[in-house]
Amino acid sequence: MPALRVILGDQLSHDVAALDGAADDDLVVMAEVRGEATYVRHHQKKIAFIFSAMRHFAAELREKGRQVRYFHIEDDEDGPHTLRAAARKALEEGRFDEIVITEPGEWRLAEDLRRWEGDLGVPVRVVADDRFVCDHETFEEWAEGRDDLLMESFYRMMRRKTGLLMDGDEPEGGRWNYDKENRKPAPGGYEPPKRIDFQPDDITSGVLTTVAERYGDHFGALQPFHMAVTRAEALRALNAFIGRALPEFGDYQDAMLGGEAYLNHSLLSAYINAGLLGPEEVCEKAEAAYRAGGAPLNAVEGFIRQIIGWREYIRGVYWLKGPDYAKTNHLNASGKLPDFYWDPEKTDMACVSEAVRHTRDHAYSHHIQRLMITGNFALLAGVEPAEVNEWYLIVYSDAFEWVQLPNTHGMALFADGGVVATKPYAAGGNYINKMSDYCKGCAYSVKDKTGEKACPFNYLYWYFLDRNEDRLKGLRRLNMPYNTLGKFSVERRNEIREDADRFLKSIGVR
Ligand SMILES: Cc1cc2nc3c(=O)[nH]c(=O)nc-3n(C[C@H](O)[C@H](O)[C@H](O)COP(=O)(O)OP(=O)(O)OC[C@H]3O[C@@H](n4cnc5c(N)ncnc54)[C@H](O)[C@@H]3O)c2cc1C
Ligand code: SF4
Repeated sequence: MPALRVILGDQLSHDVAALDGAADDDLVVMAEVRGEATYVRHHQKKIAFIFSAMRHFAAELREKGRQVRYFHIEDDEDGPHTLRAAARKALEEGRFDEIVITEPGEWRLAEDLRRWEGDLGVPVRVVADDRFVCDHETFEEWAEGRDDLLMESFYRMMRRKTGLLMDGDEPEGGRWNYDKENRKPAPGGYEPPKRIDFQPDDITSGVLTTVAERYGDHFGALQPFHMAVTRAEALRALNAFIGRALPEFGDYQDAMLGGEAYLNHSLLSAYINAGLLGPEEVCEKAEAAYRAGGAPLNAVEGFIRQIIGWREYIRGVYWLKGPDYAKTNHLNASGKLPDFYWDPEKTDMACVSEAVRHTRDHAYSHHIQRLMITGNFALLAGVEPAEVNEWYLIVYSDAFEWVQLPNTHGMALFADGGVVATKPYAAGGNYINKMSDYCKGCAYSVKDKTGEKACPFNYLYWYFLDRNEDRLKGLRRLNMPYNTLGKFSVERRNEIREDADRFLKSIGVR
C-alpha cells in the first residue's frame, strides 16, 4: 500500500527526507491550517510568504509527477484545523500503510506528533531532518561535559566538517574568525546595494487577497509584497546578494543607517529556513566568490560563520535544552512589552522606532537591530522573556521557534543565564550612536546621561547593571562596567533609579 508523506510549511525542499524513496502512488499531504496560522498572530507577510511558497512547492511536486493532497485555507470552514486533522482527512480518502514525516522544527509539533500513531491508527515514521550540517547526536556529543557551550569552538568543528574556507587542516588566511574587522559604521552618504523585488504572480496574488481577508488584523504591512516564493527566485536572490552585497557584508555587518532596512545583509534567512535554499549551497557560493576574487575573506568568513556557525549552533541549543529552556528567567524580568513594539509612531526613540518600522513593513530587521535595538531595549527595561519571545516569533518572516527562541531568550535577553552568550548584550546609547546615524534625528540626547531629555538607553543601561548586581557581578566580562558603577555616588545611583522608574512607568513596562 502507498504511504502518506506529510510536508510542513518549512520543509519546502525537493530533497527533504520525507520524500526519500517515495513511490509513484504515494500521496504527498500539505496543509494550510488555522492552527498553524494563528497559534501566535503571525505577521501578515510571514503568513503570505509561507502559504505562497507552499502552493508553489505543491505545484512543482505535481509537475514532477507526484500526487499531492493540498488543503487550502480558503476551505477551512469544512476542512481540517490542525496538521493532525489534515493527515486524518487524507487517510480517510484512501488506503495507506504508513505516514512518513520529516521531524518538525519545534517542540510543540514534535510533541503533537507523538500522539499521531495512536490517534490515527497507522504507523508514523518520523525521519531526521538532514538539511542541517550538524545532526542532534553530533551536537550532543560536542556539548557533553563542556563547562560552557562556546559557539566559536563549535564553529571550528563545522568548518572542519564541511571543509568550507579550509586550507588543508588550517583555516583559510591563517585565522578562524575575522569578526574584529566587521564592526565598521557605514560612512555618510553610503548607498547600499539594490535588491531584487519579485513581483507577485497569480498564486501569490490569490494568497495576498486571502491573507488580507482573514488575517488583516494581524500585525504588519502585507503590501507591497516582493519576497521570493520559489526556489528559482530564491536562487536569484542568492546570486544577487553574492554579486552585489557580499563584498561589503563584513565591513558593515554591524552598521545601521536611517531609512536603510537591509544594508549589505543577505535577506536569505526566510528562504533558508523554509527550505527553498540549502545552508551549505549558500556557503559554497560565497566561498566560490572569495576564491574567484569577487569578495574579501572578512566578508565571506563572516557570512559563512553566521550560517554553519550561529545557525547550526542555535538549532543545537534549542533541541539540547528542551522545552523547559523557554521557562527560565535568569534575570527575573517581569515587565510588560511596551505598545511601541507594535507601532513605531508610539515612541520618540529614533532607533527603536526605525527598527520597529522595518519590522512592520518588511517582516524583517537585520541582526544588529534585533539584538542591539529591540532586544537590548527589552533586556535593559526588564520585559518578561515570554512576551519578548512571542513578539519575535510573530513579527519576522524567518521566525520558527528553533531559531527564534535561543536567539531571543538566550542571546538578546540572557534569560537562560548564559548558555548562548557569555555576558548580556547590554549597551547604552554610545554604542548605538557609534554604529548608526539614528541619534542625530532623535528627540533624546545621546550625550545626556540622566534627566528627561537624556537617551533612555543611557540610564537604563546602568539601572540594568544596578538591579541585577547580585546575578551578574561575578561575570568576568562585566568587571569593567561594574567597577565603574561601583564608583558612582549614592546620589547618582538614585538619580538613575528615579529616571528609569519614571521612564518605564511612562511606557507601560511597569
Ligand atoms: C533577538 C533575535 C531574534 C532572532 N530571530 C531569528 C529568527 O526568528 N529566525 C532567524 O532565522 N534568525 C533569527 N535571528 C538571527 C538573525 O538576526 C537573522 O537570521 C538575520 O537577521 C536574518 O537576516 P539575513 O538573512 O539578512 O541575515 P545575514 O546577516 O545576511 O546573515 C546570513 C545568514 O546567517 C544566518 N544567521 C545569522 N545570524 C544568525 C543567528 N544568530 N541565528 C541563526 N542564524 C543566523 C541566517 O540564515 C542568515 O540568513 C535572530 C537574532 C536575534 C538577535
Ligand atoms: S539618542 Fe538614544 S534613543 Fe535616541 S536614537 Fe540615539 S540611542 Fe536611540
